[in-house]
Amino acid sequence: MYVAFDDTDSVTSMCTTFLATEVVRALSDHDLIGYPRLVRLNPSVPWKTRGNGALCLRFGKGSGASSVIGQIGDLKVRSHRRSLGDPDQDELMERCSRLLRLWSRTQEDASPGLVVSPSPPSPRLYWRTVREVVPKEEVMEELRRIGASALELSGGRGVIGASAAMAWRPRDRTYEVLAYRAKERWGTPRQVMPQDVERLDARFPSTFNNYDHVARRPAIVPHSPCPILFGIRGDDVSELPEAMRSVSSEPVDRWLLFMSNQGTDDHIVRRWRELRPWSSYRVEGEVVRAPATIPGGHVILRLRTKAGEVDCAAYEPSKEFRGVVRQLVPGDLLVAFGELRERPRTLNLEKIEVVALAEHRRKVSNPACPDCGKAMGSMGRGGWYRCKRCGRKAQGGERTELVPRAIEEGWYEPPVRARRHISMPLKRQLARGLRS
Ligand code: ATP
Repeated sequence: MYVAFDDTDSVTSMCTTFLATEVVRALSDHDLIGYPRLVRLNPSVPWKTRGNGALCLRFGKGSGASSVIGQIGDLKVRSHRRSLGDPDQDELMERCSRLLRLWSRTQEDASPGLVVSPSPPSPRLYWRTVREVVPKEEVMEELRRIGASALELSGGRGVIGASAAMAWRPRDRTYEVLAYRAKERWGTPRQVMPQDVERLDARFPSTFNNYDHVARRPAIVPHSPCPILFGIRGDDVSELPEAMRSVSSEPVDRWLLFMSNQGTDDHIVRRWRELRPWSSYRVEGEVVRAPATIPGGHVILRLRTKAGEVDCAAYEPSKEFRGVVRQLVPGDLLVAFGELRERPRTLNLEKIEVVALAEHRRKVSNPACPDCGKAMGSMGRGGWYRCKRCGRKAQGGERTELVPRAIEEGWYEPPVRARRHISMPLKRQLARGLRS
């Protein structure tokens, strides 16, 4: 029996993954089948609180091998590979509804949804919800088709995310271990040893997005007043509990391992005919207008793509990544990944591959007059010149020199703190040998 929920938290408190630990504890008379799933959905939806994450758990009667995947108080959380039978749907609905009502921040804008179902929705629902904006009616129709029960509080928009999380059948997956704080510490500054976090990349090679080596800051510690102490992400689930223990910190109140679509690029639309706002794309193109820095410190350049010209933006929070973008010149060929914003209509860059660098030349002097040999003066636009002595007009012919490029062909991405949860970091992409 699948249990999924979303939209329980607010910007100032709670976290839907914490509710997952409460559900696991409350339903410990049933067995957990597989890993709890933390599923990130379309990062462009305007009504997300933070990372547009939804949760899905599966309960049953465990059989075969099991492993420890967490600790909540005295409870060692075990996950079973297979299930021999389902708990009662109504019983699970009733017990989880109570928890949802207890923990949801409905007084602070949350619009929670809970879905309980003996079978998951079509995987198509996941792919639509991770890449587009999906109307709730469409989701409700799919839930009726599969015989799911749903609880909607304060509008119940969360059923969209919950159903999509349940619909996820991983093609690619990563894992995250989340460590939580004791309740009395929620909202206070977190105590986590930065040096231990800095060492994670080297000690646990499958982990990623741990530490910002330029800003010299841990990236595993949230800044919101939520119950999470830190979260470590990686490809090899067996490394994560040890990685967690290697970080000295205030006491860890509870911890749990999640399977996730974080770091997979599942949100990126690769085959498209036109670019539509509220979705993220892989776009090939040629730089046609040099990068310009606009007020606020954002850097904008124009790319010619198969669907026409589009402005691409490296926003201020992407920090040193803007320095890379500033090095591009007209003629450079790129592959760009990013979300298309509606207003201003820009492709918000998540990473780029510089495929081919153009020859960059700079004018050294104006041409000489073809009639009298005297140096000509520029007429302004269009590369036209006029001879100062005889008045002859001519276009082009100026002397230029090659400007050495301060950038190489290859991949570039923003620093850890400016990355999306679902974006595939280059560390992971290159380790897997994936081409763009
Ligand atoms: P957190 O990351 O802290 O859990 P959040 O960023 O996930 O918070 P939510 O509070 O879950 O934010 O809000 C996201 C809302 O958007 C949910 O109600 C979810 O159902 C809905 N939603 C998610 N993806 C889509 C989509 N593609 N189309 C329409 N609605 C969506």
